[in-house]
Amino acid sequence: MNISDETIEKIRKVSCQTDNTFFQAVEEVLESLQPVLESDPIYKRHSILDRLTTPDREFKFKVVWMDDNQNIQVNTGYRVQFNNALGPYKGGLRFHPSVNSGILKFLGFEQIFKNSLTGLPIGGAKGGSDFDPKGKSDFEVMKFCSAFMTELHKHIGPRIDVPAGDIGVGAREIGYLFGEYKKITSSYEGVLTGKPFMFGGSLMRPEATGYGCVYFTDEMLKFAGKDGFEGRICVVSGAGNVAIHTIEKLYKLGAKPVTCSDSRGTIYDSRGIDLETLKEIKLQRRASLEEYCVNHSDAIYTKVEDYPTGGHEVWQIPCDCAFPCATQNELTELDANTLVENGCISVSEGANMPSTPDAIEVFKKNDILFAPAKAANAGGVAVSEFEMAQNASMTKWSYEKVDKTLEQTMRSICKRVHLTARDYGVEGNYIDGANIAGFKRVADAMIAEGI
Ligand code: NDP
Repeated sequence: MNISDETIEKIRKVSCQTDNTFFQAVEEVLESLQPVLESDPIYKRHSILDRLTTPDREFKFKVVWMDDNQNIQVNTGYRVQFNNALGPYKGGLRFHPSVNSGILKFLGFEQIFKNSLTGLPIGGAKGGSDFDPKGKSDFEVMKFCSAFMTELHKHIGPRIDVPAGDIGVGAREIGYLFGEYKKITSSYEGVLTGKPFMFGGSLMRPEATGYGCVYFTDEMLKFAGKDGFEGRICVVSGAGNVAIHTIEKLYKLGAKPVTCSDSRGTIYDSRGIDLETLKEIKLQRRASLEEYCVNHSDAIYTKVEDYPTGGHEVWQIPCDCAFPCATQNELTELDANTLVENGCISVSEGANMPSTPDAIEVFKKNDILFAPAKAANAGGVAVSEFEMAQNASMTKWSYEKVDKTLEQTMRSICKRVHLTARDYGVEGNYIDGANIAGFKRVADAMIAEGI
């Protein structure tokens, strides 16, 4: 049994059924790390794998709040503080009915590597709740956020743990959470990122993940000797923060994004997605994408239930570059085969772990340029760290400064990942490159800090 298998076996013994996505993430990382572990015994001697795959601590708590009909509602809240070898715990909060401790462990584990890859001083964490903001009034969301913070505030702080947004947690939720933290602690400090600009947020935080993903892909295409985005047809899934800003940056670099999707269906607009309409529907009204066709009668809307194999219709559309930006495991082996048959040259993960392991195998076999989430979507957390720096120094960066620093950060992550893969004899394999480069920085810090 090799070192990685031993670790996986141990995790299985102490984990529960909801931890499947966590296993999936750990297995993928450990497979990549095998050459590093074999060539450098120091990591085994310091039990780095066992220490890295066990969170420092996990909190699970009850969240009680009152809805608009005066009914008392109960949800569960979580925070997983995974690793702070490189800096304060940092990672988003997700509000979605699918949230459980396993999903958050997977996301927290991934976050360690992602944050390490940025080269910035931030550790890894994740949190959230099974609360569903969809269909709730602003007042209900505020009540829930206040109740959630009543417990969470005990565990966070600007130098301890700095949560941010994720699925279901945008500027509105961060605003309510920040307001409650301030009330409880009487302290005005950068304890959350993704705040609205007027009270400490960074310019460009909403755009950061999507823009960063496109910068990364642009650099990856250049390393592969392909020209940038000019004239390329792109498909994007999702219609939230990441998808919208991926589409926006693709337009800026000369590409034509032709799809987007939400949990109910997919839009295909062969003339290119109309960004203003998309923003108006999803950001302003939080409505269904079906409404896109009201103003764009040429566009095609396919409901999830009308798509024969389930999942996303997005991947059926011929394209040069694909950007899964909705949710985990949304791109299957079947979808991957279709993308390859249709001549797709690159897949970049805007969402966290959107491609299944079988889909990734298809991409590897067919030499598709594949940018894994922990590298490709690190732009969000990078700008979150810029927000922490601005809060700590009581300064404000200009839009141009944030954008320039983001672009440099993403291009340098891409370069580091590319060179690491080359050094370990797997040139062009961005999964191994990202896992190894992310691992080494954290592991070396853990060794230097002692047990
Ligand atoms: P949002 O909540 O803003 O948007 C998510 C979008 O995906 C929504 O349009 C939603 O549809 C759609 N969606 C959700 N589940 C499904 C599904 N099963 N099938 C089809 N569509 C679905 O989230 P974000 O854009 O912020 O996050 C998207 C992904 O990116 C997540 O994996 C997140 O962890 C990751 N990420 C986000 C970062 C950020 O800065 N926001 C940073 C790094 C990673 P509907 O509108 O119907 O709900």
